[in-house]
Formats: sequence, C-alpha cells, structure tokens
Amino acid sequence: MAFRIFAATTSQGKLRDFRTAAQAHAVRIDPLPGLEEIAAPEENGSTFEANAMLRAVYYSRYLPGELVLADDSGLEVDALSGAPGVRSARFAADAGLVDSPDANDNTDVWNNTLLLQRLAGIPAPLRAARYRCVLACAKEGAIYQTAEGSVEGVILEAPRGTGGFGYDPLFYLPQLDRTMAEIDLETKLGLSHRGRAIVALLAMLGR
Ligand code: IMP
Repeated sequence: MAFRIFAATTSQGKLRDFRTAAQAHAVRIDPLPGLEEIAAPEENGSTFEANAMLRAVYYSRYLPGELVLADDSGLEVDALSGAPGVRSARFAADAGLVDSPDANDNTDVWNNTLLLQRLAGIPAPLRAARYRCVLACAKEGAIYQTAEGSVEGVILEAPRGTGGFGYDPLFYLPQLDRTMAEIDLETKLGLSHRGRAIVALLAMLGR
C-alpha cells in the first residue's frame, strides 16, 4: 500500500502541487476527509513555522492514526523588513483596503497595489524578496516532521504575466528572466518554495 499523507488544505492548487511532487516518491497525498466541515483554527503565529505546526497539530486530531500535512507560506521583502510575511494573504486587508481577504476577489490586486506603493522609489538592487513555505506533518496532535523551501526573487515595478496567483506577477526570477506569472506550472513546481518544501519533507520522511 502506498505511503499516505492527508493534506489539510482546501486549495486545489496546493493539493495538485503536493500530489504532483509526491507521485515521484511513491507517496499518496489526499485531502483531509471532511475538512470543509471543520472550523478553522485561529492562525495567530508570528512565523510560518508556528502557523504550519499549529494547523497540522489541530487537524491531525480529526484523523487519528494518520499523518496530516499543513502548510503556511508567504512573501518576505527585505526592504520591508520581511513584510508582508505571515500576513501575505491579508496585507491589503490589514491596511484597510479590502474588508476580508476571503470575501473579495480583488484581494490579489489590492495586495500587489499596496506592495508597489510600499516599495515606491526603492531601486531594483534593493527590491530583493523571497517566497517561503513551511510544511508540518503531525499525528494525533503531535508534530512528526517539518520542512521548508524558499525561492529568491526581485519585486518588479509593474506586474508581468497572467499565470499563477497572489504576488506572482510582481515576483521576478532573474535566472529565468521571467516572473512567476510567466512560467508554466511544472516549471513553477520545480523551483518554487512549495515544490522545494514538499521534496524536503518527503526526503525527511525517508521517501
Ligand atoms: P497561504 O500559504 O495560503 O497562507 O498563503 C499566504 C499568501 O502568500 C497567499 O495568499 C499569497 O498572497 C502569498 N503566496 C503564497 N504562495 C504564493 C505563490 O506561490 N505565489 C504567489 N503568492 C503566494
């Protein structure tokens, strides 16, 4: 029987990324059964690690005996002292530009607009940033393993590309001369924070 992990995510995109990466390691990643009916825990950690661990521990209690995977990810911009960081999804909402990140389809647009505003006048060499992803696996309320992945980039002065999501149109990869919104999904998975984190986790699990 294949080694199995249950992912506590409702994001089809993340699930697809996890599954695609895990396939090559003979690991099966399925969505946590009944996740939609479980009230989400309060995500109050000040680091990606804290939030990923908190969620993995919380959701693992709903599936005794199984390994449950949770993640947290976001964008860190050096010139903004690491912001938006754990507040990446809520960057514009925190600034009062949108009501709630989940209730507004324009959240990504507002987040990107705010990011450009905060970086106005800062020249390219000082616009370094990275995406970070931390994964945590837990079993019956106890952390089993954590792993992380990151990818370095530069924040452009205007968006480029229509693929991806979130901050991807502003996130420029110098080695490819493309933004994250200009590369295909397979390439993105190969070099992204999420792709790297899942490969690191599978290696730690001996896969
Ligand atoms: P979470 O891991 O779903 O909490 O992601 C937090 C936020 O970080 C997202 O809403 C995006 O704004 C940003 N983010 C995380 N990963 C990516 C990515 O691969 N591309 C673009 N934005 C991302």
